[in-house]
Parts: sequence; structure tokens; C-alpha cells
Amino acid sequence: MASTLWTKKEETWLISYWVYKSPEKIAEKLGRSVGAVKKKMYKLTGSANTGRGLESIHSLSERTGYFEYQIRRAIKHLRVKPVKVGGPVGYQLKDYQVEQILQWLTETDLDEERLRKIRLKDQGLWSKKFTECRDCGTTERPHYGLGLCRPCWNRFTWKRRKNI
Ligand SMILES: [Zn+2]
Repeated sequence: MASTLWTKKEETWLISYWVYKSPEKIAEKLGRSVGAVKKKMYKLTGSANTGRGLESIHSLSERTGYFEYQIRRAIKHLRVKPVKVGGPVGYQLKDYQVEQILQWLTETDLDEERLRKIRLKDQGLWSKKFTECRDCGTTERPHYGLGLCRPCWNRFTWKRRKNI
């Protein structure tokens, strides 16, 4: 085996794909031996196998640009159970969990209104206090006010106006 020096590009590629691809696949792609790939990964990260297929929330955040709180929210929403590895790293995500999380984050428009609804839905709520519209029982239409959807709220306030 020709022991050529690693280029920066190869190193970057190795780090990026380490959690997704097997050392065998990476070795094949780079035209290097599996041993050389593992050894290089150990040199770069200080771990050859412990990190294989696992990624911390912090590292995922660094790699993707999503904030850690966004990732935590996705974890909670998707009910993903990270692997407890102990030590300063704490929880680690398996590669399929990372994929789930990234898919959810890209599909979800993370504006505040949307996040508020997701939070409420996670708690089984439709509005801050109610699980559905108090009058018609819809959860399809958004909450408008007083525990009512817009049409019910209109009806309610119209009745009130009429009765005055
Ligand atoms: Zn209603």
C-alpha cells in the first residue's frame, strides 16, 4: 500500500462522512486501507470507534448550523432517545436519529408561531388551556380567542353584541 499523505480535502471528507458511512466504504472511496482510515480518524478526533455512528448534539449543531435548542426541540418532538455514553459528551445520537432530526428541521418552518403550536401539540393541547375548540370541538382551525376557533368566536361575540 502506498502511504501517501492525507490532503485537507480528504481529512474533511473523512470527518464529515465518519458518522454516516462504514470505515470500509470510506476506505474504498478514498482508496486507502480500513486500518489507515481508522488510524487517521483516531489521530484527528482522538477516538477511532467510540464515536462511530454517534454524534453529540453539540457536534451536530456545529456541523449543520442549527442551534442546539432547535436540535433539542426536534429530539423532544420526535421522541428520539439519544444514547447515554457518559463523560463530558453525555448524550449521543445514532446516525438514523440524526437523519430524522435533520429531516424534521428542514421540513419545519421554525417561526415562533409554528413552534408555539408544536409545543402545545406536544402537550396534547390546542390552545394554552384547551384541547379543542370549546364550542365546535375543532382542532383543525387554529385557536382564535377565549378557547374558541374563529367562526365560534365570531358567533359568540355576535350573540353577546346582540344581547346587549
Ligand atoms: Zn369552534
